[in-house]
Amino acid sequence: MREDWHKRFAESSDCLKSARRRQTIVPVLDLEIGGDEFVTMAGPCSVETEFQLMATANHVRRAGARILRGGAFKPRSSPYAFQGLGLDGLKMLARAREESGLAIVTEAMSEDDVPLVAEYADILQIGARSMENYSLLEAAARSGRPVLLKRGLTATISEWLGSAQVILDAGNPNVILCERGIRTFETATRNTFDVGAIALLKQISHLPVIADPSHAAGRRELVPALARIAVAAGADGLLVEVHPYPEKAWSDGDQSLSFAEFDAMMEDLDPYLSLRELEAGRRRRAVPMRDAVDVRPMEAVG
Ligand code: PEP
Ligand code: MN
Repeated sequence: MREDWHKRFAESSDCLKSARRRQTIVPVLDLEIGGDEFVTMAGPCSVETEFQLMATANHVRRAGARILRGGAFKPRSSPYAFQGLGLDGLKMLARAREESGLAIVTEAMSEDDVPLVAEYADILQIGARSMENYSLLEAAARSGRPVLLKRGLTATISEWLGSAQVILDAGNPNVILCERGIRTFETATRNTFDVGAIALLKQISHLPVIADPSHAAGRRELVPALARIAVAAGADGLLVEVHPYPEKAWSDGDQSLSFAEFDAMMEDLDPYLSLRELEAGRRRRAVPMRDAVDVRPMEAVG
């Protein structure tokens, strides 16, 4: 890694790769995030009804997702929009885990909600609007659950890693970074998907990086292409919004995939995931060779 990255991100140095730490692997139930497997997290933006959640959980599991997403506490741009079912939503998520075997990722919006959300969730999501809420980050870290840290709407990579460092400093090593698009001058898409950030973080950070093409695009027809780009950029997984009837969703319907669209996206990802596997194999074989060159004794050279 180039020395100037160390200087630029000196305040979040524990997030950076080192000889001691090349990759963090976050264990979640029987899964590993940041390891060999590309992990897809899918589900509705908000938990709405028992039927909506169970149907989605069963469907996305059959299509290859390993983690169910769904918000019970919802940060909304409008104070009049649906704010989530709260505890009832968490209980539905727990039932969906029981029925489907999928792990659960869901958002904690305030420090006070963390103990309750941590009781039901396998991964705590910190939303984009909360990325700089340091008391929430510390409470989430102390819960002991892995933390999926979304990038703030206008956060630089440095600010984002600063928030990750707060969680690491609070004693929780299981941080997962999530690129969900940032606000730029472009308004045709909901946000601008910063794929360069994914590529950079995979080079300099040992933390797993997940891509959220749904909030980046804001339009369901763009989601599959952004998902493929995320794989090519080196992401460790996806966070995707899926709904049985996207046009009737209580939040983020425009960017939610129908079941058929989710199936098609997953199928179209296959060749990209095969390439990813090939590349990982090549990298694994290359490491011992490079090490062998590095440790070659002087007398053997030339
Ligand atoms: C969400 O995942 O539904 C969400 C609110 O995301 P973000 O915090 O990235 O806007
Ligand atoms: Mn959403």
